[in-house]
Amino acid sequence: MDTFEFLESEVRFYCRDFPAVFTKATGCKVFDEQGREYLDFFSGAGTLNYGHNNPRLKQRLIEYLESDSITHSLDMATAVKREFLERFQSLILAPRRLRYKVQFCGPTGANAVEAALKLARKATGRQTVVFFMNAYHGLSLGSLAVTGNGAKRASAGVPLHYAMPMPFDGDLGADVNTLDYFEAFLDEPGSGMDLPAAIVVETIQAEGGVKVASYDWLRRLEDLARRHQIVLIVDDIQVGCGRTGTFFSFEDAGIRPDLICLSKAIGGFGLPMALLLIRPELDVWKPGEHTGTFRGNNLAFATASEALECYWSDEAFTKSIVKKSELVTRLLREIVESHAEVRAWVRGRGLIQGLGFDVKGLAEQVAHLAFERGLIIETSGSRSEVVKLLPPLTTDEDDLQDGVARLNDSLEVALERLGLKAGSHKEAQAALKIQ
Ligand code: PMP
Repeated sequence: MDTFEFLESEVRFYCRDFPAVFTKATGCKVFDEQGREYLDFFSGAGTLNYGHNNPRLKQRLIEYLESDSITHSLDMATAVKREFLERFQSLILAPRRLRYKVQFCGPTGANAVEAALKLARKATGRQTVVFFMNAYHGLSLGSLAVTGNGAKRASAGVPLHYAMPMPFDGDLGADVNTLDYFEAFLDEPGSGMDLPAAIVVETIQAEGGVKVASYDWLRRLEDLARRHQIVLIVDDIQVGCGRTGTFFSFEDAGIRPDLICLSKAIGGFGLPMALLLIRPELDVWKPGEHTGTFRGNNLAFATASEALECYWSDEAFTKSIVKKSELVTRLLREIVESHAEVRAWVRGRGLIQGLGFDVKGLAEQVAHLAFERGLIIETSGSRSEVVKLLPPLTTDEDDLQDGVARLNDSLEVALERLGLKAGSHKEAQAALKIQ
């Protein structure tokens, strides 16, 4: 690791939690320089939904490269971009009766969020964007302004303006509908809140602790946005592209966002790509008003088109995700039930599932021990209180079971080390509780 420590910036992050030098990967398995095998329940934070080196996508990429096809084109028209657009239209938008124009932004999630915020402000002539507690939308200045994490916000170096936090679904306890609170601000002329340009929301706060918004809450949020002519932006960067079972995470809620941000898994193969989907009436950009060098990645168009064809031509993929998610939820619930010495909970939808604990440091300890047991898994939440399961959607049931078993072993050891095994000292347990 010396080379990395010596030559790479202190900003490096994930390599600190997963200290290995990785060399190869297929499906849900990753290998390091020592030939050690890991199960990947992190999937590049939701980028590798179709697995590492998915054979069909890889074949398409090799053929694309071998035929000397275009790799860089600014935002000029290319045959492979047309193929992607047409497939996205025929396989994703048309069957769902959705009408959107596609903007190719810079290739990161934050790029798509920046484009959405800028467009919403331009279209409405207003400035403020409402976001939700514990939201994560990226770390560039505009997207950081609508991200909750205090430490990340502090790194901005300038004030983060024109953004207003509101409580997410469930943030004020099970008995409070947080939209009553938001609605009161909007409806009361003396509330002091300027009418927002936009509301940006994740249907499941993936970084924020796998918090799931209910369909009713999402529908009411859409209704609030419509009544006040506020642009509704859904950030589907981490939980879109099948993560929850359906292609878009909001499909079963029946809402129609004005703008949708997609990135991470949309490129299919882990190649950088991001999209902003724009309700046609909101497409008020002037040519070149928001442009740049990397606006669409032709290699990613090839693998993205292939992924759409392979996985989204019928219902089979969605059905398989739902089935696998039922298995994972059941196994996680068994873990919770068999560890009465700690208060734990399971939440999520599809193949994003969180196992949360009310004991300080426990989730981090579990993730750390899991890595020692060959499982790559992350924590999430403002207190890192949730272990987040994000396996490739193509992971088979045996590997899912194996991963959850490694998680269970890690929990056993972590509880032992923290002195929390059944019967251990009550005061020690109380002292460790998250406030
Ligand atoms: N939005 C969401 C919901 C995300 O999960 C992320 C990345 N974790 C981003 C935006 C930012 O994406 P990127 O890191 O590619 O800028």
